[in-house]
Amino acid sequence: MNSSLKPNVLIIGAGPAGLGCAVALRECGIPDVLIVDKQGVGASFEAWPQQMKLLTPSFHSNAFGPVDLNSITPETSPADYLHTQHPSGAQYASYLKAVALRHELRFLHAEVRSLRPVAEGFEVRTNHSVLLPKYVIWAAGEFSYPDDKGILGAEHALHSSRVSDWSLLPGQKFAVVGGAESGVDAAIQLAELGKEVHLLSRGEPWGEHSADPSQTLAPRTLDRLRQCLTGASGSLHFYKNADIVSITPTPGGYELMDTEGTPFLSPTQPILATGFHSSMDRISHLFSWRGRSAILDEETDESIITPGLYYSGPSLVHREAMFCFIYKFRARFGIIARSLAQRLGYEWEKPLKLWRERGFMVEDLACCTDCKCAIEPVESMQPEVVDYAAAA
Ligand SMILES: Cc1cc2nc3c(=O)[nH]c(=O)nc-3n(C[C@H](O)[C@H](O)[C@H](O)COP(=O)(O)OP(=O)(O)OC[C@H]3O[C@@H](n4cnc5c(N)ncnc54)[C@H](O)[C@@H]3O)c2cc1C
Repeated sequence: MNSSLKPNVLIIGAGPAGLGCAVALRECGIPDVLIVDKQGVGASFEAWPQQMKLLTPSFHSNAFGPVDLNSITPETSPADYLHTQHPSGAQYASYLKAVALRHELRFLHAEVRSLRPVAEGFEVRTNHSVLLPKYVIWAAGEFSYPDDKGILGAEHALHSSRVSDWSLLPGQKFAVVGGAESGVDAAIQLAELGKEVHLLSRGEPWGEHSADPSQTLAPRTLDRLRQCLTGASGSLHFYKNADIVSITPTPGGYELMDTEGTPFLSPTQPILATGFHSSMDRISHLFSWRGRSAILDEETDESIITPGLYYSGPSLVHREAMFCFIYKFRARFGIIARSLAQRLGYEWEKPLKLWRERGFMVEDLACCTDCKCAIEPVESMQPEVVDYAAAA
């Protein structure tokens, strides 16, 4: 059989996770590594709204040890390549493409429809062909799988990931459902365009503090929020305890309703900033689960019930620590490459030396479970917030 249909390793997804693993495997000299993607390299980033930027800053600090937070290999830096600190989605996708070109990675344009273990590896059915890899790295991300949180009538709303340009949305008054990063970003973008924005949130993520940036708003978002509250031409209104469960079109627009039956009327299509499903849900039967997190072998990031199936990307969880930023999940690229090199009989220690030294092969998982700043944080600015039910 053609080796492109029977690769040693098939990587599903050409985002930062899939590409980073592919480069690490290449460093070990592993041949026949194929990346399959239904869209193309960096497609999730290319689909970001035009105005959105990475909130993790890029800085070309690699030579002194701390690698650019958004790098996917130890020897590249988006800051150095793009000359910017907060790349847009399109810019970051161009960095990913440059890395893929530099390492001559091999791609197949196809959508994976099913994956099942067979005698000598896996059978992977795509919309075009059947692939028979020995090993699989699942790196299909989250962005392609928006989560509407089961809101009744969600089809009448617009998920934030489907917005290509905030300035193209018609209307003046907006309701944004969800107060985490995407919701606050949407609200800021619209307020800066002079709109009246109502941010409906269950909790108050903008007021929470955590030493783990996965649990709280990023410093860049807080900076933008402060700027927006004092300088935006539009207005921003925060509501807590707004657990929206239904959206119904009305003659004047849309009625949003919370669990208590409290309505909110929006003349424009509501924006859902309600997050994403993990692509792992599509092959959930191949993993063992603890709550909503797949349990992966700590030595390899491999499924504990499907040998040979690895996971790389933002849904990675070890010891309750979430690896949902690029700088976090890249810490395991070398771990996956080492495991595959060992299995396929390739040298890994020397080829991955730099990966280990620069934090792309972190073995000690204790590092991410006990992180607390040694000094107390200063008080943060709090926006004015009203209780959803009281405001109605
Ligand atoms: C709004 C937003 C802002 C963010 N900002 C930051 C940030 O500032 N810093 C940071 O570190 N992280 C940030 N993240 C998170 C970061 O974008 C993701 O963690 C990262 O994209 C995950 O990389 P990935 O390679 O796993 O997934 P992706 O980049 O989504 O790549 C997955 C690829 O898999 C492909 N694919 C999916 N399903 C299939 C299939 N069935 N068959 C074939 N191909 C498939 C897709 O086409 C896609 O190209 C942000 C995320 C969002 C949504």
